[in-house]
Amino acid sequence: MKMSRRYTEFMSVGKTFYLETFGCQMNVHDSEKVIGTLLHEGYRQVESVEQADLILYNTCSIRDKAEQKVFHRLADFKKLQASGKKFGVLGCVAQQEGEKIFERAPHVSLVCGSASYTNLPQMLTQLEALDAASSRTPAFSPADGGISLTTGTAREPEFRSPQLATRNSPLVRITGLDDRATDKCFETEYTARTNPHRGYITIIEGCDKFCAYCVVPFTRGKERSRTSESVLAEARQMADLGYTEIQLLGQNVNSYKDSAGNPSSRKSFAELLAAVGEVPGIKRVRFTTSHPRDFGRDIVDAIDAVPTLCEHVHLPVQSGSNKVLGAMQRLYTREQYLERIAWMKSAKRDIAITTDIIVGFPGESEEDFMQTLNLLAEVGYDGVFTFKYSPRPNTPALGLEDAIPDAEKSRRLEALMQHQKEIQIGSYKKYIGTIQEVMVEGKNEARNQFIGRTSQNKTLNFIAPEASAPQSGTYVKVRATQSFPNSLLGEMVV
Ligand code: SAM
Ligand code: SF4
Repeated sequence: MKMSRRYTEFMSVGKTFYLETFGCQMNVHDSEKVIGTLLHEGYRQVESVEQADLILYNTCSIRDKAEQKVFHRLADFKKLQASGKKFGVLGCVAQQEGEKIFERAPHVSLVCGSASYTNLPQMLTQLEALDAASSRTPAFSPADGGISLTTGTAREPEFRSPQLATRNSPLVRITGLDDRATDKCFETEYTARTNPHRGYITIIEGCDKFCAYCVVPFTRGKERSRTSESVLAEARQMADLGYTEIQLLGQNVNSYKDSAGNPSSRKSFAELLAAVGEVPGIKRVRFTTSHPRDFGRDIVDAIDAVPTLCEHVHLPVQSGSNKVLGAMQRLYTREQYLERIAWMKSAKRDIAITTDIIVGFPGESEEDFMQTLNLLAEVGYDGVFTFKYSPRPNTPALGLEDAIPDAEKSRRLEALMQHQKEIQIGSYKKYIGTIQEVMVEGKNEARNQFIGRTSQNKTLNFIAPEASAPQSGTYVKVRATQSFPNSLLGEMVV
């Protein structure tokens, strides 16, 4: 059922939506695209669930806790369905749980995976049309049933058996789930970026690596890259709109493979990085997340050669033990990882390095854990994101024996964080007395301090004379005068 554009506008006039986002930067950016698409369709975004006609949750399923949060949120607002509000679940939990969501949260009307967001306007129009029809014509909603429609990138729309509705409130359900084989990127011209100075550009979606613990290959589908022309066009458009910082995004951003039609115009990831850094008006380029297996020396060379590329690489290691890396199916050894670290340390610029670590993977012994602890000091990370292993549906690690008890995972997590804190207390000190350029992110009025971010992605808060108070989004020089485990304090150089 294809609706005309005019009909779509008619249906959504005056409609409001509320969108809450869980999870990573990819989800934050997907939400910006969903918001842009809905605004274009005539919807208006509101600040609270109570004000909204349509309530959307863009979900994360990377760890069990993140997934539970969504179901708690849905339960909290369940009673609002009686007042005619519609609930939709987008993103990774939608993709992973599919129609099972309707069983756990029967008031949900829409379930949509990330590769189907381009179909969102059509799905919403169908939802409204079916809803209107079902309340007008009882025969359309047989007996105590509802209407369920499946749409998506890989399947033709089809009506499915009705279920779980009441006579007074027939439920209409729409499901847009993606085939893992989709080669569609979620490109839209209607991105509503929330920050006027700094914005994301997705360059690659999905993942083909299948680490033993991870749901991403199942929830975000196979790896697919945009063309470098389309990425550069978006970067130029952002620069024209006044953005000065661009962050290139991908589950494994450096696994990028230019899909340009003409092979001679294809760019490697490092070449694309440099080209984005050379777009007039762009002052900073970041990229995340890099996978160690695909991290080439050319990336370090690009950072050395192009000053707008930020002095920061996020390179998740997950474990310092080869035995655990093997069981995780990470495709590199500790030695290969350290080789990449050595490339960065020998760069001309001072590249900050951050990482992700999982503790308590099945079979991780005390000895394995000690190897992770000593890797922290060996690398001297500028920041570490630590996670307790969380068993996830469909993943190969579910079948592994030697589960680590939760109390032991917590102990290891605590020990790791404490060790890293001590490392950072020492390493942040070395910036005292240096002058750093920061992008001004805002002001902490209570402390009368401006919030700044350095090229290395460190927070450098600072004071400035009233007469030269800087605006958000500008770049100023700041002398660091004090250090803390996770931030620096300084004064603006005037
Ligand atoms: N593609 C990136 C890579 O390979 O390093 C990581 C992307 S993943 C969305 C972000 C982080 O979540 C991972 O680096 C890992 O530390 C963590 N993570 C993923 N699955 C997890 C699980 N089942 N339990 C705990 N942490 C997990
Ligand atoms: Fe998940 Fe591994 Fe893919 Fe990263 S590389 S998204 S951890 S499967």
